[in-house]
Order: sequence, then C-alpha cells, then structure tokens
Amino acid sequence: AAPAAGENEGVNVQVLLRCRPMSDKEIAERTPQVISCNEVLREATLYQNVGGKQMSRTFRFDKVFSSEASQEKLFKQAIVPIVQEVMEGFNCTIFAYGQTGTGKTYTMEGGPRRSDDGKSLSAEAGVIPRSIKQIFDTIEANNADSTVKVTFLELYNEELTDLLSFDDVKDDSKRLRLLEDRNGVVVQGLEEVVVKSATEIYQVLDRGTAKRRTAETLLNKRSSRSHSVFSITIHMRESSADGEDVVKVGKLNLVDLAGSENISRSGAKDGRAREAGSINQSLLTLGRVITALVEHSGHVPYRDSKLTRLLRESLGGKTKTCIIATIAPTVQCQEETISTLDYAHRAK
Ligand code: ADP
Ligand code: MG
Repeated sequence: AAPAAGENEGVNVQVLLRCRPMSDKEIAERTPQVISCNEVLREATLYQNVGGKQMSRTFRFDKVFSSEASQEKLFKQAIVPIVQEVMEGFNCTIFAYGQTGTGKTYTMEGGPRRSDDGKSLSAEAGVIPRSIKQIFDTIEANNADSTVKVTFLELYNEELTDLLSFDDVKDDSKRLRLLEDRNGVVVQGLEEVVVKSATEIYQVLDRGTAKRRTAETLLNKRSSRSHSVFSITIHMRESSADGEDVVKVGKLNLVDLAGSENISRSGAKDGRAREAGSINQSLLTLGRVITALVEHSGHVPYRDSKLTRLLRESLGGKTKTCIIATIAPTVQCQEETISTLDYAHRAK
C-alpha cells in the first residue's frame, strides 16, 4: 500500500516547551523571573546574571507555550493531530519531561478542578481526559464499533507497579513482569480496564492516583522519582468495500516522567552523587534512545531500561513521539531549567 500523506521515512519527534505560571507564593515573595517565552517565534529566552554581566540564551522548539497558555490551547495545537493519528491505527507516545514542580502532572492529568460536569471538560483538564474525550467523540461521529481499553502503571527503581489493580503494592508476588515474545512486549498481569465513556476516565485516574499515594507513604519522594505510563488502546472494527471486516488498532501512551533533576544529579561528574537509587536508568536511557532515533545512528539502546523496552513499539518507526518539556520561570530553578532546555533541544 502507498504511504499515507505526510508519512515520512524519518523519525517523528516533536519537542514542545511549556513554562508554568508563577505560584501565589512566588508572586508574594516577588521572586525574580528569568524566562521569557515567544510563542510566535517558538522561542524561550533565559536571562542570567553571570559575574555581574547580564547574559541571555535563546532556545527554539517546535512549539512554545507561555505561562498564559491554557490546557485547551496546548491540547488543540499540539495533541489533537497525534490523537487523530492514533485513530488511524498508529502508536504514539507523549512524554512530559521536566524538573519536579514544573507542571508535568498538571499537563498530563490536569489541575485540581480537572473533572467535568459530564458534558464538557473543565478548563483544568489535562491531556489524558482530553485525549479520551477526542477518542470517544471520533468513535461517535464515525459510528464505529470500537473498544477502548486503558492501563496505568508506575515504574520506580526499574520495577513496575500496576496502578489500576486492587492488589497490595507491598505484595512482591504481584509485581508485574515485562515479557518479550515474537509480537513484542507484554506486561504480564497488567490490569486492562475497558472504558465505556469519556467521563469514566476520572474514576480510572483517581484510582491510579490513590494507589500512587499509598505507594508514596512507603518511600518519600517516590513520585518525583517514578515514571507513570497511562496507555489507551483502541480497537476499531470497520467494514471494508469487499464486505470483510478489518480491525485497526491504535495506541496512545501518555508518560509522566520522573523529575529531570534525577538525571542531572546522577550525571554529576564527581562520583559522589552516584549513590544507590540516584541514577534513574530509564530516564537516562530514554534520552539515549531518542538521540539515537533522531540521529539515525544504527543501534538504538531500547534494551537498556524498562521504560524503553515497554515503549519500544511506540518509539521510532512509523510512530509520532512528542516531548513536552516543562519549566518554571523563577530564578531559583534556573540551573535545572538550563538542563531541561538543553536536553529538550538535543532531542530535536
Ligand atoms: P510536576 O508534576 O512536574 O512535579 P505539578 O504538575 O505537580 O508538577 O505542578 C506543580 C504545581 O504547579 C501544581 O500546583 C500545579 O497545579 C501548578 N501548575 C503547573 N503548571 C501549571 C500551569 N500551566 N498553570 C497553572 N498551574 C500550574
Ligand atoms: Mg508530578
């Protein structure tokens, strides 16, 4: 079959930047801002005082969202085309990458008032509920015979936890395993939840969030060091012209990555910072995999971490990958902001 329009041989990695607004506390404390975003030029500029001299560095991305950009704007401009691709039967992955406290979870799941009234989305709803809504709207419009299934897992210290199963997180025998067979990677024992309508997604998200919180009490700071992967799989049955049914399968992975401070610290040059647990293997490997894909270097080190093994079929090849790099505008965060800007820029 001829390739679809717009489909190219190369890897499709889109990198966007989002800067969060100042918090009430930062405003009250008159915290200086060091970031300015230009959405039209798709640029972010960081102003720094180096040895009494005012310096600035500018970075360009595929898209830039300033602190005023709404959840709806980001979704419409960056995510809608990706969900459309998924509905055509492709695998796509969206990552939120950035320092803890810069808006990864806000972007993916949404703010505190994220849930809706059953009809329309709340202004604070994030990428996950908005994607689900778009998927159900498309299914309805096409009157298609489709099944939507979701899974939600957490990866911490290279170990997988099912955020949707009701099993005890401390029960080691319930640990999920990654198995590779001829058809790809499967997560043994992972709970798949069939979602019947867009509004059900909040119950699913809350179930995962509650479980994550239970796990959190077992170890402090766990959430900033763990990755969460929310996957939506859509089976679409269509009757073709010759009367035979074809089933298209599309998958969307929505990944809330561990705080990027875990990578810069583990990348520290003096061995001191390399204590156990400080190296986030999955975060490091993800960077290497994306670099290898972007640079078309032969070897892509998928096998070096659980996260990249898990997402292998959705990274590279005929898939769309989107990295949303999140930053804070304040001077306190500037060192981490520079690392994030550099990392995200390298992925381009
Ligand atoms: P992370 O997941 O990266 O650690 P969070 O998503 O928890 O960060 O965001 C930290 C805080 O900032 C939260 O209180 C969140 O509601 C707020 N926040 C983040 N991004 C935005 C945004 N774009 N608009 C409004 N509030 C935001
Ligand atoms: Mg978070």
